[in-house]
Amino acid sequence: MTHIFDVAVIGAGTAGLAALREARRHTHDVVIVNDGHYGTTCARVGCMPSKALIESANAFHRTAKLAELGIAGGERLRVDTSAVLARVRRLRDHFTKDIVAITTRLGDRSIQGRARFIAADTLDVDGRCIQARKIVIATGSRPSMPPQWRAFGNRILTSDTLFEQRSLPARMAVVGMGSIGAEISQALARLGVKVAAFGSRPFIAGLSDPAVNDALVTSLRGEMELHLGASARLETNDSGDIDVIAGTHRVSVDAVLAALGRRPNVDDLGLEHLGIALDEDGMPPFDRATRRIGDLPIYLAGDVANEFPVLHEAADDGYIAGINVTRAAPIRFERRAHLTIVFCDPNVAILGTPYAQLDHTNTAIGAVSFERQGRATLAADNRGTLRVYASRTDGRLLGAELCTPRGEHLAHLLALAISRSLTVQDLLRMPFYHPVFEEGLRTALRDLAKQLGTDRQSDLASCRPVGASALD
Ligand SMILES: Cc1cc2nc3c(=O)[nH]c(=O)nc-3n(C[C@H](O)[C@H](O)[C@H](O)COP(=O)(O)OP(=O)(O)OC[C@H]3O[C@@H](n4cnc5c(N)ncnc54)[C@H](O)[C@@H]3O)c2cc1C
Repeated sequence: MTHIFDVAVIGAGTAGLAALREARRHTHDVVIVNDGHYGTTCARVGCMPSKALIESANAFHRTAKLAELGIAGGERLRVDTSAVLARVRRLRDHFTKDIVAITTRLGDRSIQGRARFIAADTLDVDGRCIQARKIVIATGSRPSMPPQWRAFGNRILTSDTLFEQRSLPARMAVVGMGSIGAEISQALARLGVKVAAFGSRPFIAGLSDPAVNDALVTSLRGEMELHLGASARLETNDSGDIDVIAGTHRVSVDAVLAALGRRPNVDDLGLEHLGIALDEDGMPPFDRATRRIGDLPIYLAGDVANEFPVLHEAADDGYIAGINVTRAAPIRFERRAHLTIVFCDPNVAILGTPYAQLDHTNTAIGAVSFERQGRATLAADNRGTLRVYASRTDGRLLGAELCTPRGEHLAHLLALAISRSLTVQDLLRMPFYHPVFEEGLRTALRDLAKQLGTDRQSDLASCRPVGASALD
């Protein structure tokens, strides 16, 4: 008789492993099926190797500022690209090792193979039949690539293949300027590759605030050729190189990084056997708060859901799915405030409600330029803009978009404030040390306070008066 597992998890990425961990708190009768490499997209080809590359690129880029800081000899430094890439892979191996061990320890409860539904409770895994009472789909996503680009062979790279390179070509195009394209194009340029980057929209790195986007575009244009607003196509030229053509621009390159977004891995999953209507992209309907697909005992977690393709959201999805597969009735979870960081320099962050989704009739916008910000000037890193959004009704912070030095830290501070429903005055009550980058945020908050009519002679007036000595 076939064994029926309590839970099957498809995909051993961040979401799948989080679901596995939660489900195993309640039952050990869990099986996980993974196709291809183990170690997760994040550690193997995503967050970690890309940030390792960026660290080397930024460290070298900083040497151009040494003379300004009074340090001579920086111009004699050079990049050893193959050493940079070797370090990226060394760190990747370090970070994937412990993750791979999680599934190895499961023994025959971990199955390598491609899972496909043949019924709502049955998977075919390369010819083997797996039945389970509840199933979590955590199959992630893969880089999008126009099929005709395959004709260019290994001269078309994606984030799946870039970190495997032993050296980098002299001239590269990066096509697609979302978060991955923005981060990697700048890193490649800083490592000495002549980069031409192309984005089909005027907005890049996921930004929607025009002022913040302009600041980032201006900054990146100082480091690379950047063409926005037209779709790019590829041709082979007479010398056998690749020409990238977008609008009136034509640029010859040795290789192209396709950073055209990612496709959820649902197309070969047999979802048509679930007996539920799929949308035009082949996606089933699901509840974001429970992760449940319709009223089936099947849950969706991580990038496969094509909602917020960032690691902490994938982990949260997996956690929710892993809890709900062990319960008779699923629990609804309130989700965290939205936070995306793009590790280009200046850092980009989008948090809470983005500019494009604001109710502009009831929103005040506080802004600060970092071009004259004190600490940024001392660090010779004075670029970028931050814009914070607050409700005109009660002064509550709604969201922010920013492109500033050390923006990753400002973003966390703002995310905390938004998560706690703090107002502009609540934040101005906080101590700001001097001289710090956070003083830039304070300038934007004071700008907001002025618009909301809550500005004071001193921020101390925002603090609660003690005893009877209240200010008039
Ligand atoms: C270049 C890059 C940089 C990034 N940088 C950041 C960052 O700085 N910060 C951040 O928060 N996020 C970042 N991300 C996003 C983050 O990596 C993802 O959100 C996260 O890894 C998604 O995890 P997941 O579990 O959904 O998918 P994955 O980790 O991709 O796991 C899915 C697994 O399912 C397997 N699978 C697929 N189909 C099947 C099948 N039919 N049967 C069995 N197994 C199957 C896959 O092979 C894979 O092992 C980055 C991503 C990329 C590509």
